[in-house]
Amino acid sequence: MEWKGIKGTVLENVSMKRYTSMRVGGPVRYLIYPVDETDLKNVLRYLAHRDIPYRFLGNGTNVIVSDSGLKEALIRITRMKQKGYKKTKNGAVADVSGGVSLKQFIRDNAQHGLSGLEKLYWIPGTVGGALKMNAGSFGASVSDPLLTMRVLNTRGQIVTISGQDASFGYRTSPVRPGECVISAGFSLKGRNKKEIEKDMEYVYGERKKRHPMEFPSAGSVFKGVKGEPAWKFIEKAGLKGIKVGGACVSEKHANFIVNLGSATAHDVRELIDTVKRGVFEKTGVSLEEEVELWGFNG
Ligand SMILES: Cc1cc2nc3c(=O)[nH]c(=O)nc-3n(C[C@H](O)[C@H](O)[C@H](O)COP(=O)(O)OP(=O)(O)OC[C@H]3O[C@@H](n4cnc5c(N)ncnc54)[C@H](O)[C@@H]3O)c2cc1C
Repeated sequence: MEWKGIKGTVLENVSMKRYTSMRVGGPVRYLIYPVDETDLKNVLRYLAHRDIPYRFLGNGTNVIVSDSGLKEALIRITRMKQKGYKKTKNGAVADVSGGVSLKQFIRDNAQHGLSGLEKLYWIPGTVGGALKMNAGSFGASVSDPLLTMRVLNTRGQIVTISGQDASFGYRTSPVRPGECVISAGFSLKGRNKKEIEKDMEYVYGERKKRHPMEFPSAGSVFKGVKGEPAWKFIEKAGLKGIKVGGACVSEKHANFIVNLGSATAHDVRELIDTVKRGVFEKTGVSLEEEVELWGFNG
């Protein structure tokens, strides 16, 4: 297909194994990288004109794509990278593109002696993906120091949403499907660089101890239940270490499903359903997925 007027890159028929941290999934017809906001709007007009549905993809660290792939085009804004700092009395406001890696953003803030997001260090997504999921760790959420974010809605308008918006909650945000977090402004405080780095090292160390980082995964599969972490229920149900094909409930952290190397999306889905059934039978608790399942029927 000809992409007249689109300045960015369009890849065709790419395997989602390459673009998701779980390393499973079938093909996507179009993977589009707009170069700037105007290009992004043109891409959306182009897709609408041809009746091609679409989704936004960040670093693919919270999604599992089915083996049959997707009918939607995927748009990644990871090449629309921009950021800057505006000094304030106590620190700075960081303005960052939604396509920037959250990990890199936090590192850059530390280099500038700016604190506020270190507890989220090493969450492997983009800033936009993190805001959509309201990602968090060690009791902090990405929305905590958020002032505003600029969101492209499905009518092609850019709206500004406040960090105080009531729809931010535990892994919930005001960002609706089909909307794109283009950029965000965070209020960061000035702090000694060495102290910030010490906190980041602590967070990294703890994550390495607790998470099975040596295998592909999509992070925590299920949301916590009434303040209790999901791994407790999975352990209680005796499901640690169970396998379906090449997918396994991690021995290190029961809320992680890891790809032992040969897993298919079908294996992962089957294992998710097995865990949900097992936990319900043994504990009466209904687990809800934190990961998004794309392209599966039902
Ligand atoms: C090893 C590992 C550890 C993890 N640890 C944590 C953790 O501690 N805490 C935590 O909360 N999560 C964790 N995660 C999950 C994941 O990293 C986060 O949810 C992350 O914020 C997802 O970002 P992403 O860019 O990869 O989004 P994707 O997985 O690409 O997409 C997730 C959702 O965000 C949407 N999206 C992506 N970009 C945008 C955008 N620019 N605008 C609007 N919507 C967008 C997608 O459409 C999709 O709905 C972990 C994952 C892994 C693999």
